[in-house]
Amino acid sequence: MATAKKPTTRRKTRPATPEPAKCPDCDGTGEHTETVRVGARKGRATDDRQTVLCLTCWGTGHATD
Ligand SMILES: [Zn+2]
Repeated sequence: MATAKKPTTRRKTRPATPEPAKCPDCDGTGEHTETVRVGARKGRATDDRQTVLCLTCWGTGHATD
């Protein structure tokens, strides 16, 4: 496999390992942080936060097709 590298002017549009697109819902984190609410119906927002799995990408952080 010895083809000499030609000095071509190719645009580097594609890296060797293309990064998967980020999930738009969680911005690639794979999880959401939401305010913990207590009480019935809408409830009262507390100062606590809880991390929940992103249901769009199932925690992978990658956008799905
Ligand atoms: Zn996601």
